[in-house]
Amino acid sequence: MMQRNRRLRREILTHIDKFPRMESHYCRKKTSYEYLSPELNVAVMYRLYEKECARDGREVASMALYRSVFNSQKLKFHVPKKDLCGLCDTYNRGNAVERNAIQAKYDRHITEKQAVRQLKEELKLKAKDNPQFVVASLTYSRFCMFRNLLGERGVLRIRTSEEGEAIDWTTFMSVRLEKDSPGKIFYKTSHRQEQFSTINLEEKRRRSNPTVNLRPTDRPKIPEAKYNDLISFCSGDTPIVFHRDHKKFYEMLPH
Ligand SMILES: [Zn+2]
Repeated sequence: MMQRNRRLRREILTHIDKFPRMESHYCRKKTSYEYLSPELNVAVMYRLYEKECARDGREVASMALYRSVFNSQKLKFHVPKKDLCGLCDTYNRGNAVERNAIQAKYDRHITEKQAVRQLKEELKLKAKDNPQFVVASLTYSRFCMFRNLLGERGVLRIRTSEEGEAIDWTTFMSVRLEKDSPGKIFYKTSHRQEQFSTINLEEKRRRSNPTVNLRPTDRPKIPEAKYNDLISFCSGDTPIVFHRDHKKFYEMLPH
């Protein structure tokens, strides 16, 4: 009996050892624990163990025994930090090769993150001292569809900024509108950029009433192609979005 128990324990341990440990840099705490993927738990591992036993025609130990062997090891399941974005998460999870592939992008991301945090602090201080400034986070209900407005005013047909650079809306990090310059949209593609760049709408000489064309976003849908792009972030060998809940969010987007 003792011998059987010892054998089962040894087999369970061999099974547990097959799961890759996450690299230690992923976990900030200095600890003797090793971490398994956040996608796993003991029940999932046990089911795989059962399958393996069935395949090899071996005796299956109970879940209780499996759990007891698991608990005797210095093992934990990694819980991803909730405030970590997909890029940071992918970087932290990645091995040297995967990290290297996104190093430049990641470095830029960190620099921008630091810059925007600093900016936020500055603006909060400004708002505290001067009632003319209001710092407000935008909630969903305050978003408007401006596609019609963009079309009407030919905004997307303007390809070059007043400063002479190609305009790529997907790279905008900051947008500024001024009451005194209704025909201009100011933007930055980096928080470290000192001056805003300018889109000049006046050149198109088109008139429209912005308020007529600004509609609240009712039942927004994203284009099929966009949906597929987002879903592609959730799959593949190194998904940018890998957390179960986050994936679900993208999968549920109306399209
Ligand atoms: Zn990040």
